[in-house]
Amino acid sequence: MTKFVYQCSNCGKRYQRDEVRYLCPLCSRDYRSGIPLIGVLSAQFDYGAIRRKFSKVKPDWNQFSAVEEKFYPPLPVGNTPFFKTAALGNELGFDNVWIKNDGLNPSASLKDRASFLVVAEANRLKEQTIVAASTGNAASALAAVCAAAGKRALIFVPENAPKAKLVQMILYGATVVPVRGTYDDAFRLSLEYNAKRGGLNRNTAYHPLTIEGKKTVGLEIWQQNHWRVPDAILVPTGDGVIISGVHKAFCDLKAAGLISRLPRLVCAQAEKSNAIHHYVESGIYENAAHPDTIADSISVSIPSNAHMARQAILESGGFSITVSDAEILEGQSTLAAKTGVFAEPACSAVVAALKKLRGSKRLGHSEQIVLLITGHGLKDVDAAMRGIHLPKAVEPTLAAVEVALKARAKKGAR
Ligand SMILES: *Cc1c(COP(=O)(O)O)cnc(C)c1O
Ligand SMILES: [Zn+2]
Repeated sequence: MTKFVYQCSNCGKRYQRDEVRYLCPLCSRDYRSGIPLIGVLSAQFDYGAIRRKFSKVKPDWNQFSAVEEKFYPPLPVGNTPFFKTAALGNELGFDNVWIKNDGLNPSASLKDRASFLVVAEANRLKEQTIVAASTGNAASALAAVCAAAGKRALIFVPENAPKAKLVQMILYGATVVPVRGTYDDAFRLSLEYNAKRGGLNRNTAYHPLTIEGKKTVGLEIWQQNHWRVPDAILVPTGDGVIISGVHKAFCDLKAAGLISRLPRLVCAQAEKSNAIHHYVESGIYENAAHPDTIADSISVSIPSNAHMARQAILESGGFSITVSDAEILEGQSTLAAKTGVFAEPACSAVVAALKKLRGSKRLGHSEQIVLLITGHGLKDVDAAMRGIHLPKAVEPTLAAVEVALKARAKKGAR
């Protein structure tokens, strides 16, 4: 680990590591529930020290970590596959499309990265209980890492979270409290619980190490891309923490003199859960009135990290785009059929976004484009079912099989 301080993303004030835990104490006085967080903290490292010590021959990623390795939970996270997909590129009209498949984490989403680091921090602080509000994945990730680390996870989720995610949390041994309300209600409730009962809160962006944890996906992309910076990274965006984390990775690398430019970040949101998109396009923040989308992981009315996310997108030279639920389901099936990667609806939004960008001047067709796949499709089979038809069973005779296949061929089905 390299020394770091926390810096407020709003007022710029710096704090020693153990002087603060969550938001900037000054700026968060203006925070109330119902608006994005104010005063989200960002870890600022000793970049001069990293510049002197970091070696590509023997990369020591602990230099970019805000928690010492000795506190890491015993559940390996990350190091997920990064590969080029010619077939999907051809289909979408781009020559150089890559996939970072973070659905292959232990609990099957990128959220494991954030939970890993926050649980490491809980080890350091000797906190036994970790509390979180989540649309589903952050909670299943926290439950998984807590299981490995012998910690108690207390989780507030909207009662309509996909079943597989709820099942995961419970199997991992978490205490799960389904809430009659939205994710935004669960978020508020978790803060109220912590204020009264203590424990460490893992809410996204509220705990600054959620951003640091998610940052590791950006560092990995750089390494797996043979130390080159991709031209653009498409990021499915709800609260805006993943996109801020990816940006932070490349900002850290640039500050350490290891790269000279940033990748453009493309924020992909669902049409009805578009608060960050609207903010990027208009400069004016408004909650999404009815964040109703099949992509539950990016369904949020009040994105907690809206301010930092907007800044990350603009600073990177990127932009934002929205897609409909129908486009998301089509993206999911295109991705699966062309690459063998089954992704949940949230991240299928990036495939839909790329499809929409074909022919626009915003992405060049020979640029290196990375699709960040953040969660596994098996987490929400009900959603995927809406985009497909399950074939009826046939009698177990070859004759019946042939009749059935002929009928399907007639309809243009497989
Ligand atoms: C949480 C999540 C996102 C969105 O990340 P934010 O930090 O909320 O923007 C995207 N995809 C999946 C699968 C997720 O679980
Ligand atoms: Zn501040």
